[in-house]
Amino acid sequence: MTRKDRQTREFRAEVRKVLNILTHSLYANREIFLRELISNASDALDKLRFRVSRGEKPLAPDMPLEIRISIDKDKKLLTVADTGIGMNAEELGENLGTIAKSGSEEFLAQLDNVAPAGGDGPEENRPDAANIVGRFGIGFYSAFMVAEKMEVISRPAFGDGAVAHVWTSDGLGSYSIEPAGDDAPERGTVVKAYLKDNSAEFLEKFRLESVIRNHSAFMPFPILLDGSRVNSEPALWLEPKFSIKREQYDAFYKTLTYDAKAPLDALHLSVDAPVQFNALLYLPDSSQDFFGMDRDFWGIDLYARRVLIQRRNKDLIPEYLAFFKGVADAEDLPLNISRETLQENVLLRKINQIIVKQALSHLEKTAGGEPEKYLRFWRLHGKIFKLGYHDFPNRERVSALLRFNSSALDDGEALTGLEDYMARAPEGQKTFWYVSAPNREAARLNPHTERFRAKGIEVLYLYEPVDEFVMEGLGKYREWEFKPVENAPDDALSAFEDKKAMQGKSAPLSEEEQKNFAALLDRMKEILGDKVKEVRVSQRLEDSPSVLVSPDGAMTASMEKLLKVMHKDDSLPVKVLEVNQAHPLLRGMLRIFKADARDNMLTLMTQGLFDASLLLDGFIKEPQVLASRLNSLLAETASLYAEVRKA
Ligand code: ADP
Ligand code: MG
Repeated sequence: MTRKDRQTREFRAEVRKVLNILTHSLYANREIFLRELISNASDALDKLRFRVSRGEKPLAPDMPLEIRISIDKDKKLLTVADTGIGMNAEELGENLGTIAKSGSEEFLAQLDNVAPAGGDGPEENRPDAANIVGRFGIGFYSAFMVAEKMEVISRPAFGDGAVAHVWTSDGLGSYSIEPAGDDAPERGTVVKAYLKDNSAEFLEKFRLESVIRNHSAFMPFPILLDGSRVNSEPALWLEPKFSIKREQYDAFYKTLTYDAKAPLDALHLSVDAPVQFNALLYLPDSSQDFFGMDRDFWGIDLYARRVLIQRRNKDLIPEYLAFFKGVADAEDLPLNISRETLQENVLLRKINQIIVKQALSHLEKTAGGEPEKYLRFWRLHGKIFKLGYHDFPNRERVSALLRFNSSALDDGEALTGLEDYMARAPEGQKTFWYVSAPNREAARLNPHTERFRAKGIEVLYLYEPVDEFVMEGLGKYREWEFKPVENAPDDALSAFEDKKAMQGKSAPLSEEEQKNFAALLDRMKEILGDKVKEVRVSQRLEDSPSVLVSPDGAMTASMEKLLKVMHKDDSLPVKVLEVNQAHPLLRGMLRIFKADARDNMLTLMTQGLFDASLLLDGFIKEPQVLASRLNSLLAETASLYAEVRKA
């Protein structure tokens, strides 16, 4: 090889940053670098097997598909070799000189969280490599945690005249690619890690064996360490259920997901009709952020008769079941299927339908038989599962599995389902009433819930913005409608008796006083002007003096706020102010009004009532104005009270 064949290139900026973190900031669990190298080797073998199964002929077709690991203590060299698909010079540069798609961006965005500046502190205190590397798919580079220099010698299995090249880097600023020497493999890739002094442990055979057993036991190809085979686990999903121990299920889950925690549950399917397939699905015991970082991090690994076709296939499972991890192996899927035609494949659609049915049955069984476990499931995965309201054919089943906090429960942690709600409801109720609020306290203090409390009618508490969409999307469950308490018509609860007598409720007003009260309402409207549509007597209040109501009753306050945020509209909504005629505050105002309709105190109080109602709806637009009005009110009250106390 001549000097001019050698090409040296700079790493891209983001690669340099990632490498810097990997080499300087991560310490715990550095052993996972081996898992990454082995999984790359296994991927390369999978890719080769896939193309062979489509009829292509590789170089050295008789070479076994295997991964060989060897140790050279003198050279402090650890080698991982595979007989897989290999890489040509261009691919070496492309695959090992840049970082694939989303992973690196997320990684860099999270840099400060995972590896705070000054990551040179005591090694024990540095962040755990296992989480970070697994999560961000920066597998190959993780070898630089333990190696001061890496060499990747590769000969592609197909095409290109099959010239071998070697990629070399010290993991700092640059890498070089040049034609390989005599030590190049006949086919596939040899990865050489020249270990740092502080990583000598990875030159010990027993240490490597235990790392492989822990992290790579289920690799579908033989792993040989200095000539003898280390892994021996079968493709678990094809084994008969009765022969599999829980520990095996758990171990497979861990190698599949890199999750350190055992799964909450495993679901093993063996289906013969209408399609023949095996699947092994897991419910993780930890949650993912499918609305953020983990947006694309879901799907089921698709195999056809043990050959890996695609990782994280998203046609096999709907998004609302994205928390299920696992594999599906189809008997009748043609191996030569392309990624594009996969999507339209009828077989996959059928498998998807069966997986959904089985997954729902499993959740139903858990909800019935192991309620504690089900609640744990709900807390971890409920957020995404709710989106199942889109699944029209399975809507009833999804609905029955939803869980809510509600006014009938003792605390904010407890949860209930729609069936239980129906069982508790009094004769004649045909509506699921709900209220949106940021938390339980806010839900209880929402004036719209007062009448429900007085009548002993249960109200479901919705704490997440998406919940209202879920309710609207569902519309009905077993002929019962979902409705927000805010939209309850005046007579909605008239059929139900009061459960508790209201304390300190004033006596009804005489006909004469009714007229005065109506005039007070007119005066209040005059004071508030365009800020309200109308001021009227409320039928829905028990404890609170006032509440804002949407004139058309079409939209709840929380929904309206959400839309305003989306449209960047910061105007205040113009609503109807309803007042509680029996409330002492309103009775007091009536007396002031009768004495002097223009009394300034009346103006302050009316505005105060309105401000408080607006606050309850979650609007604070002009805090300064609000505070100054409140202060005037307090000043008036203070001087009056001092008078009364004769202070
Ligand atoms: P990932 O495996 O998530 O794609 P890695 O950093 O582990 O990310 O590897 C980057 C890429 O380098 C792989 O996608 C693959 O294309 C290539 N690669 C790494 N190791 C091998 C190997 N042993 N054989 C063939 N290609 C490899
Ligand atoms: Mg990898």
